Amino acid sequence: MVAATNCARVDDVPGWGCQARRERACRERARRVRNRCAVVSAIRARREPPPFRIVEVARIEPRNPHMVRITLTGPMLHGFDPGLPAASVRVLLPGEPTEVVLPTWAGNEFLFADGSRPTIRTLTPLRFKPGPLELDVEVVRHGNGILSAWADTARAGDRVAVSGTGRGYEIDPAVRSFLLAGDESALPAICMLLRSLPPEAEVQVLIEVRHLDARLELPAHPGATSQWYQLEAGSTPGDSLVAAVTSAQLAPDARVWAAGEAAAVQRIRHHLFDERGLSRSHAVVRGYWKHGRGSASETN
Ligand SMILES: Cc1cc2nc3c(=O)[nH]c(=O)nc-3n(C[C@H](O)[C@H](O)[C@H](O)COP(=O)(O)OP(=O)(O)OC[C@H]3O[C@@H](n4cnc5c(N)ncnc54)[C@H](O)[C@@H]3O)c2cc1C
Repeated sequence: MVAATNCARVDDVPGWGCQARRERACRERARRVRNRCAVVSAIRARREPPPFRIVEVARIEPRNPHMVRITLTGPMLHGFDPGLPAASVRVLLPGEPTEVVLPTWAGNEFLFADGSRPTIRTLTPLRFKPGPLELDVEVVRHGNGILSAWADTARAGDRVAVSGTGRGYEIDPAVRSFLLAGDESALPAICMLLRSLPPEAEVQVLIEVRHLDARLELPAHPGATSQWYQLEAGSTPGDSLVAAVTSAQLAPDARVWAAGEAAAVQRIRHHLFDERGLSRSHAVVRGYWKHGRGSASETN
């Protein structure tokens, strides 16, 4: 008779040892799966974003034929924190009919009561004026998406909701050399950064536009030089920006901020970190949109 509690001896019995080892392996696998699930659910449960504030369109001003500035206002903007330069704000667009219905936070995304997803896009909170409670955002009219269509047709009095702000760019005031690179979607963020960078710093600004008339007058900065690159017809969004960043001269302690199409900024990351060996702590590189792919989920 073999004591079932004595594992060493069970292992000695032909056949039984295999069974015990299999059970132990099985228990170990189950333990690993449980641990993995705990980690995954910890990752999935995201921190709840700031609540939505219902606002209405006060003014609409074309910045160029491809971009419009929309000023949002309303008492719910009281206490809005514009955050650091190049921060982000979620904009909830109205469905049909045009009244804004607020979703609730379901642990890792916003959902309506019936389980459907609201239409939420990300923008840059370009300027917040606490006096008149006004928030300016600028939207690229690229002609394909819900946000772009909303910007085409928005009228004073139309309602949306905003939640923010998301993380912005922390400027190291001791640094004397910056490279800012982006496409049209990054223009509001680049303008904010130019207003905030130390005046003693040298700033290279590289911007890709689809059309030359998308160029804007940038905020004055005494150390800034700006270059605009037109995307050649038929080329992939970001091609000109990637080429510009690749051939830019960078001072040894330079800091880089870049944003634009997701695959393009991935190429910029590869160039900066793998080819140039730039320290990851010296660059912030963010994907702002995906070529050929709509923002199906609550945020991008
Ligand atoms: C932190 C952050 C800040 C941002 N700030 C701004 C901002 O200030 N102003 C701004 O306009 N955008 C900004 N964006 C980008 C903006 O959120 C996306 O462009 C958004 O996907 C547009 O939504 P849509 O409904 O118009 O198009 P979607 O439904 O997302 O996409 C529909 C189609 O349009 C294409 N598309 C989407 N965006 C662009 C674009 N910019 N140019 C060309 N084609 C596009 C897609 O590839 C897709 O084929 C920001 C993004 C992030 C993450």
